[in-house]
Amino acid sequence: MAQLAPVPLIARGCGDASRLLDVDLARERVLAAFMPLETVRLPIAEALGLVLAADVIAGFALPPFANAAMDGFAVRGIDTSGATLASPVSLIVVDEAGAGHPASAPVTAGCAVRIMTGAPIPAGADAVVRFEDTDETINANGRARAGQRIGIVRAVAPGENVRPAGEDVWPGETVLMRGACLRPAEIGLLAALNRTHASAHRRPRVAILATGDELVDPGQEAGPGQIRNSNTPMVAAMVRRCGGEPRVLGAAGDTTADLRAKLSAARGADLLITTGGVSVGDYDVVKDVLRLEGRIDLWQVRMKPGKPLAFGELSGVPLLGLRGNPVAAAVAFEQFARPAIRAMLGHRDLMRPTVRARLASRVENHGGRRQFVPVRVEAAADGFVANPSGSPGAGSLAALTRANGLLVVPETMAVAAAGDLFPVQLLDWEA
Ligand code: AMP
Ligand code: MG
Repeated sequence: MAQLAPVPLIARGCGDASRLLDVDLARERVLAAFMPLETVRLPIAEALGLVLAADVIAGFALPPFANAAMDGFAVRGIDTSGATLASPVSLIVVDEAGAGHPASAPVTAGCAVRIMTGAPIPAGADAVVRFEDTDETINANGRARAGQRIGIVRAVAPGENVRPAGEDVWPGETVLMRGACLRPAEIGLLAALNRTHASAHRRPRVAILATGDELVDPGQEAGPGQIRNSNTPMVAAMVRRCGGEPRVLGAAGDTTADLRAKLSAARGADLLITTGGVSVGDYDVVKDVLRLEGRIDLWQVRMKPGKPLAFGELSGVPLLGLRGNPVAAAVAFEQFARPAIRAMLGHRDLMRPTVRARLASRVENHGGRRQFVPVRVEAAADGFVANPSGSPGAGSLAALTRANGLLVVPETMAVAAAGDLFPVQLLDWEA
């Protein structure tokens, strides 16, 4: 892991925003510690969302053979010249071909093969006459089989209604480049090229630990002053959503012994995410533990929510410490953890796609920090409109469930006016 540049600790409540660490600089420092992980060969069915680690070169053409693009009759185009409804050309049907069932007879002068879409074009034929352009449908004569005649009522040129071999992909062509994300289409193309496996950067293993004496896990009885640990299930889902393999370590109380025991399970992970207690003073327990087996810097980032952020290393595992407040944890995950996971996956685009949207209602932004506002983005006739999904500063998880984006109010702006355009990071647009 890269050497971390020391960042001065800044006391809680410090009003001077200029002393805070810039969001982009913080992300840069975090990302300096992450590289694409090793390459593995894995079945294509398990490769969704991974990044190709090697170019894919086609071993053969696609389609592999010329085939019918329409149901009809395979013919020699020249044999149909002059064919019209008034003077049809009569051909003799010599064979039939279906998808997966090539004809055995060739098409010679004056002959045709009854053919279905996807069937190989028989030897000698160079075009397909659609059923609609024969007297079979016009006269409702019934199906013209081998040995019967068919009337062609429209001429076809050579190549018409034929998908030639190699129309899609040539043998030797680089069809997918290293760095390509394996989406469903890429997985389909690999399968078409007879690849059962793909070489891709492996998924990062991400250990997740919540800290806080007030936490009990969902399903457990909550005593006085206790709340359910919602962060580990949420962060695990976020990790899985962006391509990592979450390993939930549970919730640790704010004691050295408990923390040490739980943190030991993070060994072998590619990233450790903790939530809670990164406020200055509160993180002493974590710092004590890390001083023995790692290192930690506590940053004050010029952002809202999620200002306190811990970054360090535990037994060689990079550590990102997020705030305990669920919305702050989610926002900081988006800005720092998700890009780190994507970097390990080998992605080049690390951030969410951003659109510009018209803010529907005014947002205050005092304190000189970059504010991430959960919003519901909708497409209107004149562009995107963003509606804040909760009351300002509330940091409500329920409001986050109504959001599909994070609107970014710049640190230089004390008030974001309704009607103005702002960048919005699109979260789960389709969900
Ligand atoms: P902290 O960052 O530890 O100061 O926590 C800030 C707020 O988030 C407090 O109200 C905590 O109770 C709450 N919180 C901390 N950890 C969690 C968690 N794992 N799940 C839900 N809420 C949490
Ligand atoms: Mg706490």
